[in-house]
Amino acid sequence: MSLITNLLVDLLGLFPDGLIWRFARPYIAGPSLSAGLLSQAALNKAGYLATMDLLGEDTLSDGDAENAVAHYLALATGIAESGSQANVSLKLTQMGLNLSYDQTLARVGRIHGACLDQDLFMRIDIEDSSTTDRTFDLYKTLRSQSATVGVAIQAYLKRSLADISDLCDAGSLNVRICKGIYRESPEIAYTDRQQIRENFLALMGHVLDRGGYPALATHDDRLIDAALADIKKRALTPDQYEFQMLLGVGDKLRETLIRAGHRVRIYIPYGEAWKAYSLRRFKENPTLAYYIFKNLLRPI
Ligand SMILES: Cc1cc2nc3c(=O)[nH]c(=O)nc-3n(C[C@H](O)[C@H](O)[C@H](O)COP(=O)(O)OP(=O)(O)OC[C@H]3O[C@@H](n4cnc5c(N)ncnc54)[C@H](O)[C@@H]3O)c2cc1C
Repeated sequence: MSLITNLLVDLLGLFPDGLIWRFARPYIAGPSLSAGLLSQAALNKAGYLATMDLLGEDTLSDGDAENAVAHYLALATGIAESGSQANVSLKLTQMGLNLSYDQTLARVGRIHGACLDQDLFMRIDIEDSSTTDRTFDLYKTLRSQSATVGVAIQAYLKRSLADISDLCDAGSLNVRICKGIYRESPEIAYTDRQQIRENFLALMGHVLDRGGYPALATHDDRLIDAALADIKKRALTPDQYEFQMLLGVGDKLRETLIRAGHRVRIYIPYGEAWKAYSLRRFKENPTLAYYIFKNLLRPI
């Protein structure tokens, strides 16, 4: 992510929401739960699984954290009533992790309870490294109560191979493996792209060796090819792993995977906090950021 891209995207943030929305649209289902459910239904129809994420993180008040819980309870009911193939993903800082661990555990426990009632799987996203220990502790507490909870892990963190072993010890593991999206110090995180890929594959191998279920969250075609080679070598059946991609990213790749008989789950973000999320997406894709900026500046 270059300084220029950062600067461009910061400038984009000053444009009116309506204009930004034109470009954010592919990445976000919409501002409301009903928009999220519509997107999920369309993806299911095309053969994809889904995971629904209410946008928002770093909640600064108990009131906002409680609102997020209420949204997730409504989401669990909404998914169940629509009868679709989806689960839920959530961020612990949205539930107040940086305010109180115990209250976050209680809040996420309520959401997990609602998911259990509706027969839904709940995944805990992984955030920046200041939250890693607390995220895995909270996961292990919920995992000791039920197997319908999973977590995510980042291949760029040097600690992750040790963590995955510990997480497997807590009971059969359903884990999303991703590269990692936060800025971390080179002391704790790999910065070399190839090294991150190798760690991703090592994490995948470890989970499979321990009888777990890896959800491979990447749009990196080289990494996907290497994962597919391992899947073939191990003669896995498609119910033993899945691929995951973000809404609006890697559409051709996901279609190729589905056609070849693999499971693909699309991460569907929705909610009123769409602008901050979209600006982050633009920062990750400099070509898109330049394109948007050029179009916004073009005379009508
Ligand atoms: C389903 C899913 C869930 C995730 N959950 C988490 C999580 O819980 N915690 C966490 O730290 N990270 C999470 N991530 C993000 C992940 O860690 C990476 O930062 C991100 O996926 C980019 O890595 P990549 O493997 O796709 O490879 P890259 O080499 O970065 O990307 C491959 C190609 O995809 C394009 N691309 C990738 N991501 C985007 C994007 N966001 N917008 C536009 N184009 C993009 C790139 O331009 C490139 O062409 C998740 C990713 C996915 C797919």
